Amino acid sequence: KTGSIIHVVIIHFMTFEVNTKGIFSMYVLVVNAGSSSLKYQLFDMETEEVLCKGLCEQIGDKGAARHTRLTDGKVYSDTEPLANHSVATRKMLDMLLSEEYGVIKDVSQLYAVGHRVVNGGKWLTRPVLVNDAVIADLEKCREIAPVHTVPHLMGLRGCIENLPGIPQVLVIDTAFHSTMPAKAYTYPINKAVREKHTIRRYGFHGTSHRYVSAKAAEYLNGAQGRCIVTCHLGNGSSISAVKDGKVIDTSMGFTPLEGVIMGSRCGSVDPAIIPYIMEKENISAQDMGDWMNKQCGFYGMCGESDLRAVAAKIAQGDEEAKLAFDILTYQIQKYIGAYTAAMNGLDAIVFTAGIGENTPALRQAVCDGLGWFGVEVDPEKNANVRSLDVPDISTENSRVRVYVIPTDEELMIARDTKAVVSQSRG
Ligand code: ADP
Repeated sequence: KTGSIIHVVIIHFMTFEVNTKGIFSMYVLVVNAGSSSLKYQLFDMETEEVLCKGLCEQIGDKGAARHTRLTDGKVYSDTEPLANHSVATRKMLDMLLSEEYGVIKDVSQLYAVGHRVVNGGKWLTRPVLVNDAVIADLEKCREIAPVHTVPHLMGLRGCIENLPGIPQVLVIDTAFHSTMPAKAYTYPINKAVREKHTIRRYGFHGTSHRYVSAKAAEYLNGAQGRCIVTCHLGNGSSISAVKDGKVIDTSMGFTPLEGVIMGSRCGSVDPAIIPYIMEKENISAQDMGDWMNKQCGFYGMCGESDLRAVAAKIAQGDEEAKLAFDILTYQIQKYIGAYTAAMNGLDAIVFTAGIGENTPALRQAVCDGLGWFGVEVDPEKNANVRSLDVPDISTENSRVRVYVIPTDEELMIARDTKAVVSQSRG
């Protein structure tokens, strides 16, 4: 009996040891650092349950924080100043550690932190464990993607500083697109200039395209031999052609500006329009870039960037808002047509992200124009997709399946982070 008591004590002691050192806890923190915000989710990777999520915003400005413990719905928020990303990281940790609304007792319970990286350029093409060489590679991405990379570096440095000894992993949005053939990623511009500045199609939202295309492949009983077009339609939108589980083409390019019309981005236009406007309006290169990213798209056409507000304007008879909606529909149809040709087949179309998941009218309008391809949507299923076991809104006769799959980029980042750290530990 004494033996078994000692045994139990030893096991308790070992469990305690293991937890405080965090060796076997499977808590993965996913961090998404933007220019003035830091979003996070904490996953228990034993179950893939999200324990809490939160957001620090207006960093460098007034500051606002919001945190929700999902296990009981307890919410915390404040509007204390957040001077920079390091301060925001400490704020995030305070919220995670709070006795009242937090979810961990000690930062050593964190197995790892996974960071979203929007553009890894040619230097970062798969999830990696952070070390000095990786940070140097991320620094190089500043050249091609300053808007995203600078805050990523600040968020990463904030976490390294505040979480010494906890493995940090970068999960790269562009990585899933690195399988594109040269004919899809090369812009036919002067070779020397192209190579000097590493100009090519990188593609974006890769983590989302990977998640939803893998889900669609599950519904189709495997990715092999399957041709899938994934439509990630949110504030930023991109469309990808995924064949045999690999991207062969995608609509966003060197930057997220290319492709279909977006909330405030123009998407693809005749490149000659750009120097023409710069000259006529006396605009600098920097300002022209800002203008195309922030003053165009839905916003530039009808004064609203959120599709719900655009829809409200359409309901009031606003013709420009209707035109913006029609352009989006038309462009998505054209991409699906082009990618069907590129893949020489079409098994499924996937709609995801804010607009893709929540706008039955757009899904119907897009698919109505694809009858020749054998695409047929069931209006009932389209309107009630959340009640379906498999989120397939196509009719039984449809030659192509049409799925509405909520994206989950954070879960993918958490999975990759866990895999990279486990692998590094052998
Ligand atoms: P982001 O690219 O910033 O991640 P989201 O994926 O959240 O964007 O998508 C934002 C877009 O989705 C907006 O245009 C918004 O109107 C639309 N959207 C989000 N939720 C809904 C909803 N419940 N109904 C209709 N549209 C929605």
